[in-house]
Amino acid sequence: MIRFNVSKAEWRSYGWQIRNRIKTLEELSRYVKLLPEEVEGIKRTQGLYPLAITPYYLSLMDPEDPQDPIRLQVIPRAVEVEEEVQKHGEPDALKEEGPVPGLTHRYPDRALMTITTFCASYCRYCMRKRIFSQGERARSKEEIDRMIAYIRSHEEIKDVLISGGDPLSLGEDKIDYVLRELRKIKHVEIIRFGTRLPVLAPQRFLEDRLLDTLERYSPIWINTHFNHSREITELAQEAIDRILRRGIPVNNQSVLLKGVNDEPQEMLKLNRELLRIKVKPQYLFHCDPIKGAVHFRTTVDKGLEIMEYLRGRISGMGIPTYAVDLPGGKGKVPLLPNYVISRQGDRFTFRNYKGELVDYEITEL
Ligand SMILES: *Cc1c(COP(=O)(O)O)cnc(C)c1O
Repeated sequence: MIRFNVSKAEWRSYGWQIRNRIKTLEELSRYVKLLPEEVEGIKRTQGLYPLAITPYYLSLMDPEDPQDPIRLQVIPRAVEVEEEVQKHGEPDALKEEGPVPGLTHRYPDRALMTITTFCASYCRYCMRKRIFSQGERARSKEEIDRMIAYIRSHEEIKDVLISGGDPLSLGEDKIDYVLRELRKIKHVEIIRFGTRLPVLAPQRFLEDRLLDTLERYSPIWINTHFNHSREITELAQEAIDRILRRGIPVNNQSVLLKGVNDEPQEMLKLNRELLRIKVKPQYLFHCDPIKGAVHFRTTVDKGLEIMEYLRGRISGMGIPTYAVDLPGGKGKVPLLPNYVISRQGDRFTFRNYKGELVDYEITEL
C-alpha cells in the first residue's frame, strides 16, 4: 500500500484530499512505478479524458502489482485511445442527453439530473466519460432552475436521481439549493444521490455540515459505487456509518469490469463486505459500450456465472440485480441464470442452487 507523509488531521480532511489530488504523470510517478502503457496512456489521454486520483484512493493501491484492481480503475492506459477501443463505443450510448440539458427522463416516474462534471477521481471505465472530458464545471443556477422547472411541470416524476460527476462534491449551499427547490415540488417523493465519494474520498462524510444538509430534506437515499472489496476500508465504513445514522439508506451499484472484479470469489467477497457495513448491493451493471471504455467489458456469460456462484453462498440481501442497460436509452433489463429448466402449464422443473432438478406443480388454492 502507498503511504503519504501527512498528519492524521490532514488525511481526514476532505479539502486536503481534493487539493492534493494526483493529476499529472510527474506526480503519479513519485508513488507508482508506471508501466510503459500507463505512461503513454497518461500522455495520450491528456485533454481528452482527465486524470485525477485522491491520495486516499491511491493509498489503497499495491504499487507492485501491475494488475491491481484500484490501479486499473483510475490510471489511464494507452488502450483507452486506441482505434480498436475508440471505434467500439459511443460517447452517449444510453442516450442520456434529455429534454433539458443535464436532465434525462427515461422512465415515467423517475428523472436523472447531472449537476456537475467534477469527480474526486476519474474512473477510466466511466459511463459518463463524455461529461468528465468537458473539464470540471458545476451547472449554473440557470441550468439547475431549468431542470427543476421541467420536474415541476411533470407530475408523473416521483423520484429524482441527482448525479454527475459527483453531486456531493458541490458546496453545501448549492446542494441545499437543489434540495430546497425539489422539496417544494409536491409530487417529488424520493430524492437519491449517486455518489462515489464513500469510495474515493470518504472524508467528505466526516463533515457534519453536509450530513446536516441532507438530513433536513429526508427522505434522501444514497446510491454509491464500490467495485472491489479492497475499497471497503475502516474509513469507508466510518463514512457509511455516519450516513446511515442520519437515516439515509445506502445502496450499492457496481459495474462488472474485466480484470477488476470479474471473479466470482471476489464478487462474493465484495458483497459480503458490503452487507457487513450495512450497504445493500442493488445492481451489478454490465459495462456499457462507452467510447474509450470498452476494454473493460466482459461477456454476459461471465456475469451470469458470477450470479450463479453468489446464489447459495450469501443471503439474498447480498445479491445484486445483474442488469444490462439497453442502448439508445431503452432501459435496464435484469438478467438471471436460468432456474426454470422446463415448464408445462403449472408443472415446472426447477434447478436449485446445488444444481439439483426439482419438479414442482404450482397451482392456486
Ligand atoms: C438507471 C436509471 C434510473 C433509475 O433506475 P432504478 O432502477 O430506479 O435505479 C433512472 N433514470 C435513468 C435515466 C437511469 O438510467
